[in-house]
Amino acid sequence: MITGESFLKEKLTHIMDGETPSREELAAILALPSPEYLYHTADLIRQEQCHDAVLLRGIIEISNVCNQSCHYCGLRKENKTLFRYRMTEEEIMDAAQKIQRADISTAVLQSGEDKTDAKRLCDLIRRIRTESDLFITLSLGERPAGDYLAFREAGADRYLLKHETASKQLFEILRPGSSYNSRREALRLFKELELETGTGCMVGLPGQTPEDLADDLLYMKALGADMIGIGPFIPHPETPLAHCPPGTTEMTLKMISLTRLLLPRANIPATTSLGVLDSTGRRKALQSGANVVMLDFTPENYRRHYDIYPGKTYVAREQDHTLRLLRQELEAMGRTIGRDRPRGEILKTSAKTASK
Ligand code: SAM
Ligand code: SF4
Repeated sequence: MITGESFLKEKLTHIMDGETPSREELAAILALPSPEYLYHTADLIRQEQCHDAVLLRGIIEISNVCNQSCHYCGLRKENKTLFRYRMTEEEIMDAAQKIQRADISTAVLQSGEDKTDAKRLCDLIRRIRTESDLFITLSLGERPAGDYLAFREAGADRYLLKHETASKQLFEILRPGSSYNSRREALRLFKELELETGTGCMVGLPGQTPEDLADDLLYMKALGADMIGIGPFIPHPETPLAHCPPGTTEMTLKMISLTRLLLPRANIPATTSLGVLDSTGRRKALQSGANVVMLDFTPENYRRHYDIYPGKTYVAREQDHTLRLLRQELEAMGRTIGRDRPRGEILKTSAKTASK
C-alpha cells in the first residue's frame, strides 16, 4: 500500500533529481497533513544551497497611495478611512542611510500603485546608489514598460511583483481593473532586462484550491524567479474580503518548502504576513526552506498607515531593538546573518538553475 509518507518521499526524490512534478502531484503533496518530512527536506536543501546565512532586507514603504482596487488589500483606493502619505526624498534617503548603518545590504522601496513620476524615482535610485552601497529592490506595482528600463539604467537591481495567484479566474475577480497577462508580461520583461526578478503569491485566498497553488509553484518554476515571497492572505476589515477566513500557517509552510525544492537557489523570505498570522511563523518558515528576513525601516509616523492587513503595522518596533531580537532568535536556531553576493552573480547562477 502506498502511504502518504512513501508517496511524499518518492515525489521529493524525483523533484531533487530535477524532474518537474505534475499539477496533480503537487496538489496531492499540498493536501498531506503536517508533512514534517517535506519541511525537513526543504531545510536540508536550504542549508546545502544557502548555508546557515539569513539575508536581511530593509523595507521602506515610500507611499501608501494606490490607484488599484484589489479586493484583499487595505491600501485599495476605495478605503477612505486610510490617511494617505508620500515620503519625501530626504525622508527616504534618511531611511536608506539607517539600513546601511544597520549593515543591511538591500533597501526595498515599496508602495501602492502610485503613479509617481518615473523621473523622480530614477533621481531617487541614482541618489541611493551614489550615497550608499545598497542594492535596490523596487516593489512599486505595475508601471509602463519603459519605466522598468529607466529604473534599471538608473541603478535598480531587482523588481518584486508578486503574480498573486496563478488562477486567471481568481486574479480577475480579486484584482478588478488589473490584467493577468500584463502582470506576467512585466515579470518576463524583468528577466529580459536582467533585473533580479521577484514574484510570489498569497495562500488561502477565498476560492483558492490546492490545484491553484500547484499552478503557482509551476509558474514560479517556469519563470525561474530569483526571489519568491509566499504569505498567507489576512482579511482586512475595510475590504470586500473582510469576512473571509485567513490562510493557514501549515499551507504557507508547505508552499515555502516546495518552492525551495523546485527553485533551490531562490531567495525566499519568511514573510511578514506569516509572522502576523502566527507568532512562531518566522522561525517555522526559516526551518522549512526560507533564507531571508525583511525588516521595516519606514519611519514610525508613516508605518502605521501602511495598513495592508491588520496586525502588520504593530509588528515593527525600534530597529535596533528588532535587530537585537532577530540576532538572538537566529543564534538560537544555529543561523547567522549573511551578506549578499556581489552584483550580477545571483543572476548568473539563477539563470543556470532556470535553464536546467
Ligand atoms: N502595490 C504593489 C503591488 O501590488 O505589487 C506593492 C505593494 S502590495 C501592498 C505588496 C503585497 O502585499 C502584494 O503583492 C500582496 O501579495 C500583499 N497583500 C496585500 N493584501 C494582503 C492581505 N490582505 N494579506 C496578505 N498579503 C497581502
Ligand atoms: Fe494597491 Fe498593491 Fe494593495 Fe493592490 S496589492 S491595492 S496594487 S497596494
